[in-house]
Amino acid sequence: MSINGDALTHSPWGHCVHCGNGIGKTQFAMARQSNVVSFGKSSKSPDDQAYLTHHARSVRARFCSNECWEKGMGAVLEAEGLPASIADKRVLAGPIHPCVKCGTPVNLMKTHLAWVRYKYEMRTKGGAEVEHLDWLDVMGVECKPCNLAASLREKRHRRRATRAVSST
Ligand SMILES: [Zn+2]
Ligand SMILES: [Zn+2]
Repeated sequence: MSINGDALTHSPWGHCVHCGNGIGKTQFAMARQSNVVSFGKSSKSPDDQAYLTHHARSVRARFCSNECWEKGMGAVLEAEGLPASIADKRVLAGPIHPCVKCGTPVNLMKTHLAWVRYKYEMRTKGGAEVEHLDWLDVMGVECKPCNLAASLREKRHRRRATRAVSST
């Protein structure tokens, strides 16, 4: 067993949002990221041909295990204003897919906002520990107006939180 308590408390991935334990060598996470899908020519189905490029990623929640993910994901989705049903949905390569919040068609070939879940593992490579992306699924995509509304709401929350801190 190579994981010891100290390594867990000082995990570079922080703590599990569900159980509060330090995250070890496996991380399950949920993030919002900006994606673009492009298509190659040589494969059979559109999904096989699709390449996903991601730009900015903002991690919203990290879990230490699949079990914590299953128990804690509902609360995370609710806080983000997302339907609980997307926890185990997987968006294939469209290229047009309805917005997870309002149903407006989103063109995946243009830069768009996507909600993703993924698993990272720490692996030893040439004596060094490296982060390895095991898998990544797109759970849902979001249209620009919904994205804008969510970021305005977030800004208001942050301003209120700053005011609450400075008034104490
Ligand atoms: Zn946990
Ligand atoms: Zn929308």
